[in-house]
Amino acid sequence: MPQRTFLVIGSGGREHALAWKLSQGDDEPVVYVAPGNDGIAADETIRGGCVDIGAGDFEALAEFVEEKGVDLTVVGPEAPLCDGVADFFDERGLAVFGPKKAAAELEGSKSFAKAIMTGAGVPTAEYDTFDDMEAAISYVRRVDHPVVIKADGLAGGKGVVISPDVDTSVETLESYMAHEEFGEASQRVLIEEFLEGTEMSFMVVTDGEHVVPLSTSQDHKRVGEGDTGPNTGGMGAFTPSHLASPELQAKVIEEVIRPTLDELRAQNIPYSGFLYAGLMLTEAGPKVLEFNCRMGDPETQPLMYAMDADLGDVLLEAATGGLTGEEALASDAHAYCVVLASKGYPGPRDTGYVIEGLDEAAEVDGTKVFHAGTKRGDDGHFRNTGGRVLGVTARGATREEARERVYEAVSKISWEGMHYRGDIGKLD
Ligand code: AMP
Repeated sequence: MPQRTFLVIGSGGREHALAWKLSQGDDEPVVYVAPGNDGIAADETIRGGCVDIGAGDFEALAEFVEEKGVDLTVVGPEAPLCDGVADFFDERGLAVFGPKKAAAELEGSKSFAKAIMTGAGVPTAEYDTFDDMEAAISYVRRVDHPVVIKADGLAGGKGVVISPDVDTSVETLESYMAHEEFGEASQRVLIEEFLEGTEMSFMVVTDGEHVVPLSTSQDHKRVGEGDTGPNTGGMGAFTPSHLASPELQAKVIEEVIRPTLDELRAQNIPYSGFLYAGLMLTEAGPKVLEFNCRMGDPETQPLMYAMDADLGDVLLEAATGGLTGEEALASDAHAYCVVLASKGYPGPRDTGYVIEGLDEAAEVDGTKVFHAGTKRGDDGHFRNTGGRVLGVTARGATREEARERVYEAVSKISWEGMHYRGDIGKLD
């Protein structure tokens, strides 16, 4: 096999995990990450290293790809996809894995996603859309609570409020629509039926027609143990989900994924890339909470670390032709990721402290530390820069083995104010 070259766009733990996984191919692929982070740059398994080009600078990214002869560009985050990076690359004749702008609206506009789901007959919460605040307020005064209020556009995962009563609903609507809490993104809102159940994430690779499922996973959004405190980008994740029987997965593919892709195709909006369905497993069956047009962070970290297949092959096929749907990306292994966060996160955070113990953690069998928010100083020490700093990840033949390993590695790492959840993947 000739040596492949990949470019991963993005700079977080998800992109570190994608780049690491793509680097594992037998041909020892060269993987670049733009812009990446200092932890990725220090990872010797990622042969290309980091390239100082921002995820939004499509022209410079395309030039780099042409210069280096990159075989495939894999886009990590949603923002460049919603801004049309896949369209830009496609017009230049460059292979890219990720949906085009029109298809990325599945994440970029919740009302678009709902319209597709309605057209496709995909089970989801009942909802209404409002562009007018007074109409929205009069609606919430009439309906039973709780309701779920969502900003239509991208709000960095923060534009969703589960409102227990009318007062909270009115306050939320005012802050979204009159005070433009999320700018343009919250000018239109969705008000949705509150669904009860357990959440599960289901991600697939698709070329718009064929579907290759990854293992199932679950993440933990709340900052505190026992699912308490404010929502975060995600404090940890594990794979596979214990809730996901083969029957349930088949049901999600047949009742959610395929009809959605078919409906998009019927509307002349073919979708290719990762497709992420956030599901609520309700008594009436699985219902879609949201679609994302990219992988989840931190779910990507355990998914990549547990995967045995050659990811690069499958993504190349999905982007350039040849995907059959028979490829296997799901794994029998178990994996956990525990996010280590800065003091204050998800609020204003305390950064700049030296991180101790990374070398000791790396010695724990079956583990890998993915970097999200670190910077390396001239003294060679890593310091915390972001809210979510590290994703300590472990795999094992059993859930228990993976869990033991991950927390053993976590116990080696420390910096001032570091916090994490000790109950990731605790199932009782
Ligand atoms: P979303 O970005 O739409 O997935 O919403 C973020 C989080 O809000 C989800 O992961 C759920 O925890 C919660 N959520 C969203 N929609 C609903 C709903 N209709 N019923 C209950 N919880 C919801």
